[in-house]
Amino acid sequence: MPQLKLFNTLSREKEAFQPLDPAHVRVYACGPTVYNYAHIGNARMAVVFDLLANLLRGLYPKVTYVSNITDVDDKIIAAANETGEAIEAITEKYGRIYNEDMSALGVSPPDIQPRATEHITDMIALIEKLIEKDHAYEGEGHVLFNVPSFPAYGGLSGRSRDDQIAGARVEVAPYKKDPADFVLWKPSEDDQPGWDSPWGRGRPGWHVECSAMAEKHLGLPFDIHGGGADLKFPHHENEIAQSCCAHGAEDDLSAFAKTWVHNGFVTVQGEKMSKSLGNITLVHDLIDNFPGEALRLTLLSAHYRQPLDWSVEGIERNKNILDRFYARLNQMNDMEANEEDIPATIMDALCDDLNTPQAMAELSALLKSDNTPELKGQLLAAGKLLGILQQDPNAWLGFGGEGDTEIDALLAERTQARTDKNFARSDEIRDELAARGIEIEDTPTGTKWKRTG
Ligand SMILES: [Zn+2]
Repeated sequence: MPQLKLFNTLSREKEAFQPLDPAHVRVYACGPTVYNYAHIGNARMAVVFDLLANLLRGLYPKVTYVSNITDVDDKIIAAANETGEAIEAITEKYGRIYNEDMSALGVSPPDIQPRATEHITDMIALIEKLIEKDHAYEGEGHVLFNVPSFPAYGGLSGRSRDDQIAGARVEVAPYKKDPADFVLWKPSEDDQPGWDSPWGRGRPGWHVECSAMAEKHLGLPFDIHGGGADLKFPHHENEIAQSCCAHGAEDDLSAFAKTWVHNGFVTVQGEKMSKSLGNITLVHDLIDNFPGEALRLTLLSAHYRQPLDWSVEGIERNKNILDRFYARLNQMNDMEANEEDIPATIMDALCDDLNTPQAMAELSALLKSDNTPELKGQLLAAGKLLGILQQDPNAWLGFGGEGDTEIDALLAERTQARTDKNFARSDEIRDELAARGIEIEDTPTGTKWKRTG
């Protein structure tokens, strides 16, 4: 079995991954706050950790991958006030759409997808522990984590105290003992979602949600905690503070999670995605225009820790790569695939800190071989791990599917009409097909068609 190596943000080193319990590997990744459509940056996290979970499943007998849904947050309350929709309606809708969109990218649902609002009692219990241990205090209905009570704070991101305060854009508030202190619990107005607590009716802060849900579903410590690089500070720093301090592990930052894995940013044509630039690229829009599999491969085309620059050219490039693989699979359509292991070159690349560009280069190198049941088996096995190449090659290439003899007959008639230079009839057939949601394309190898409606 190849040795998996992962870059651990906590140690700042690429380490040989040693599970705490080789019989059961436990992974948590911070999921979305559901108040609008997921953008391509959210999708990168989902695809990277889906691949990591797939890889771990190939290496270890049991993997539990938890990724949460944040369904109570001030951004959701703001969205409800803006649109007039009920909070539950917003979170139900965007939670469902998130899962549908990720599924279009070939992301399997996490083994457990906990929702914050279903874990409020766990959060309250965690906050009570922190108060008991003098790491948190109450003030004006708020409960705050006292950052100076945890001298190791900042060890994940390596930020100095001044950077921490500046980076968190902290508000000065009369109930705060220290400007760096962060909210564990805050009071709710009557028209805001709230739960009864020892500190009055209120709601949790965002950071405490993940600490409580990860512990509940995985136990502490667990193996891998992941998320986007933008979460390192303050979110992950605060998760570590809460979880380590609640369990008397103030000197051991790895008492929460052993290995911290962070994926890099997605830029759009060199610019950071932002509302003001109007370049926020939503998965929901992309899947109307491109196959999900091409989007997935584009997201995996850069090493996960590197920035990924998103462009239509990049998607086209990766779609062309998939076309080449599917064309070969299509040539082998009538061939029974051998049961093959994933080629060692590809496993080694993925086990080397998820080196997907190298893995794709190795996969492409396989195409130098002749068409054989071995090659077909290798392409399918490696493709399965990467989340690609599992579709019917005919359908991917747009040659139509089974049971479409009527369309095939019309296309044959159209080809004949064109040969006869009966362009009126040929156009008529094209229009008839278009009306039925069938788009056709003439290529040197014949007429392809696909359903668009
Ligand atoms: Zn989190």
